[in-house]
Amino acid sequence: MFETAHEQSTAQPSPTATDLSNQHPSSESRLDPYSGNWTIFAPQRTERPDEFVDQAPTIKTDVACPFCRGNEAITPPAVWARHIPETARLFRNVTCCEEEEEPWSVRVVPNKYPAVGDLQSDSKTAFDSGAGRRDSGLFQSGCVSGGHEVIIESPRHFHSLTQLDIAEIDLVFQAYRDRIKHYRSIEGIQYINVFKNVGYDAGASLTHSHSQLVALNQIPRPVERIVERMSHHRASTGCCLRCDVIRAERKAKERMIACDETVIAYCPFASQLPMMVRVTTLEHQSHFENLDDRALESVSRMVFRVISWLEKIRPGTAYNYCLNTCPPGVNDPSDSFHWSIDIFPRMSHVAGFEWSSGCMINPVLPEAAAAMFRKCAAANSPRRR
Ligand SMILES: [Zn+2]
Ligand SMILES: [Zn+2]
Repeated sequence: MFETAHEQSTAQPSPTATDLSNQHPSSESRLDPYSGNWTIFAPQRTERPDEFVDQAPTIKTDVACPFCRGNEAITPPAVWARHIPETARLFRNVTCCEEEEEPWSVRVVPNKYPAVGDLQSDSKTAFDSGAGRRDSGLFQSGCVSGGHEVIIESPRHFHSLTQLDIAEIDLVFQAYRDRIKHYRSIEGIQYINVFKNVGYDAGASLTHSHSQLVALNQIPRPVERIVERMSHHRASTGCCLRCDVIRAERKAKERMIACDETVIAYCPFASQLPMMVRVTTLEHQSHFENLDDRALESVSRMVFRVISWLEKIRPGTAYNYCLNTCPPGVNDPSDSFHWSIDIFPRMSHVAGFEWSSGCMINPVLPEAAAAMFRKCAAANSPRRR
């Protein structure tokens, strides 16, 4: 009786209007120490009228889902698959799936419509030697290749990661680790990005829960810039920039959300997008793929918790997450990079000002966002039951 009453009063914090209006009234710009980008915080913009609500596209239901169990033939053959037998789930026994017909829990396949083709030895040689670059003065171009894979997170037709159980989510993160290691071992791969799009507003084209990996034979300039800034901080202070920020955030507390002995979740000071949460390890680690099983399990649990809080704050929200690990093409002898995952709901669109200036406008201060997450976390804490 008490539990039911307690759950009714706390399980659904709906902070959107009240909590967002508790922000500072005027605009402020903040510098992201990693990218060097400035973001404008304009809390008053949450009051804007929106005539385009509830205009999400309808989902086609007459086409077979290529990611569901039984439709494996629609996708290219798996390059990685693991299975958690139903009876062994509690004991975390995982088996490799040698054959496509074998049952699977998580399955990785090449993207049928890749953004970039496979890195072939001839195109790698051509790019490295400069022969793949076409430079005619003002109009420069080059060969881009690498790999593009889809991580199918369940044989069941789930929409969000939070519908999986914790052992399955742990397996998804093991898939990330293994596939990043795979691409890292390929000569010529300079950059690896793992990301997840959930919902139309987040860029997803299929509803079945999945994430993607893109590997490239070149490092995007904004990533190079972050690497340079982290390296400069290490050279000038002797410390890792992310480790310094983590220490400062734990001291300041106002943007902190959750922390265990291994992993921290907080809202970054200069978040480019509203309600962004950063998850990373407390201990310095440049490469996500070097995390051991214990740390990986803590990370997958924290990501699960953050997304479940996010879905309580904004039910049915579209969201993305992006995993940043030290790019293979970076020569980082001072070990200045520190991996992270950024999780963010899609509450706002990149509009004219943002496109033309490169400066984002964020209507939610990270302090207000962190307070909402903490409120949700406290309401769901087993100690409150
Ligand atoms: Zn499906
Ligand atoms: Zn660090």
